[in-house]
Amino acid sequence: MDFSRVELADEDRAFFDEARSFLATHVTEEVRRRDRETGDNFDEGVHLALGAEGYLEKEWKPSSEGGFSRVRRRIWELEKRRAHVPWVTWGTTAMVARSVEKFGKPELVEEVLPKVFSGHVRLCLGYTEPEGGSDIATCKTRAVRDGDSWLINGSKMFTTGAHNCQYVFLITNTDPEARKHKSLTMFLVPLNLPGIEIQGIRTVDGDRTNIVYYSDVRVDDKYRLGDVNGGWTVLREPLNVEHGAVAAAPDGLQDPSIMMHQAGFMAQAVDKAVTRVSQPDPNGRRPVDDKSVAYRLGRSFARLEAALSSPSIFGRVAIAQTMRDISPDLMDLHGAAATLPFGADGAADDGSAEYAYRFAPLAGIYGGTLEVFRNMIAQHVLGLGKPNYSPPVAKVS
Ligand SMILES: Cc1cc2nc3c(=O)[nH]c(=O)nc-3n(C[C@H](O)[C@H](O)[C@H](O)COP(=O)(O)OP(=O)(O)OC[C@H]3O[C@@H](n4cnc5c(N)ncnc54)[C@H](O)[C@@H]3O)c2cc1C
Repeated sequence: MDFSRVELADEDRAFFDEARSFLATHVTEEVRRRDRETGDNFDEGVHLALGAEGYLEKEWKPSSEGGFSRVRRRIWELEKRRAHVPWVTWGTTAMVARSVEKFGKPELVEEVLPKVFSGHVRLCLGYTEPEGGSDIATCKTRAVRDGDSWLINGSKMFTTGAHNCQYVFLITNTDPEARKHKSLTMFLVPLNLPGIEIQGIRTVDGDRTNIVYYSDVRVDDKYRLGDVNGGWTVLREPLNVEHGAVAAAPDGLQDPSIMMHQAGFMAQAVDKAVTRVSQPDPNGRRPVDDKSVAYRLGRSFARLEAALSSPSIFGRVAIAQTMRDISPDLMDLHGAAATLPFGADGAADDGSAEYAYRFAPLAGIYGGTLEVFRNMIAQHVLGLGKPNYSPPVAKVS
């Protein structure tokens, strides 16, 4: 890994100033307050402004096609994170748009991509079903061919952002008799079609996600992505991206792993705990002078740093697990007032540790659970073979 400092050219420094000032103008305290209230992780005004300024297109495209250079991309990503730009819906949109570009018919690409870049079209993920999400290939939502169109019936759990999106990247089963990875077909389904009902769900950390019902939804064949029963080929790439199984570029201008956004909340909570325990009381005594406080803070700090530096899929697991492990310690360091959430009178650290505590379980579930990722590491990185969940065979004496 390259730890050397990047010397910014004058034009890149100008871009840095421009990006920071643009974000400060659009991502206001009011935007952040509203986002916490709705749990949407999306703000339409900000998103459209990003589109109008050309930032969405530049972020999505490689530099060879007019996108940001490596240095500007890094500046942009870090500045967005510092400004707390609501990020989830753009994340799903950018990922799905790649599959549309690769597997969509030209007329569909033309319908969708320009509006993705302007911000008017957003895309969400319809993978998980009420009966299970880890093994998404066991999909029960059916698509049945009817002339030039398809009839879709079923339901999807946790379709985050659906209420702010125009299309869903939907896994369907088109051959219940086939082996599961040969039974799937992907569609980009317009969410305004008759027969689609979106119901909101709030998670324990205050985020909004959705359950979406599909009842006799008629979808034109132009919205199919890839071959009939070839959905697994379409899905593999976005799944790898979401799993964080894609190695970071070696030039040091990329996060070592995904989930750095989530890690930012944890880092903020650790920083606030450091400030709090370093403040002396009227007798000049600081909480950190107590050895057990110093030990728990030191351990939290070391765990945080290790998680931030762990690469690829290991980093993903380390961040989510560390958030679960250290947030109770951080709350203890603040005392009882740490149970008050952000915005409540008397909240210890403006609710940072409390939020990390409620957010931690989700960071270890969405996009794949910690157990599933540990199995992937065991199987694919350490070569330990497939996990075997069958009951032990009784010994015959
Ligand atoms: C906030 C939030 C947002 C989400 N957003 C989206 C979204 O936008 N789109 C979408 O499609 N989904 C979304 N999800 C769903 C998420 O991807 C699933 O919750 C996740 O993949 C786990 O699936 P499940 O909840 O059905 O649990 P299950 O798969 O039913 O698992 C239940 C338990 O069994 C364990 N388990 C399952 N399989 C294995 C295995 N092979 N080895 C070891 N242990 C195993 C799991 O670890 C878990 O503890 C979201 C979830 C959350 C919480």
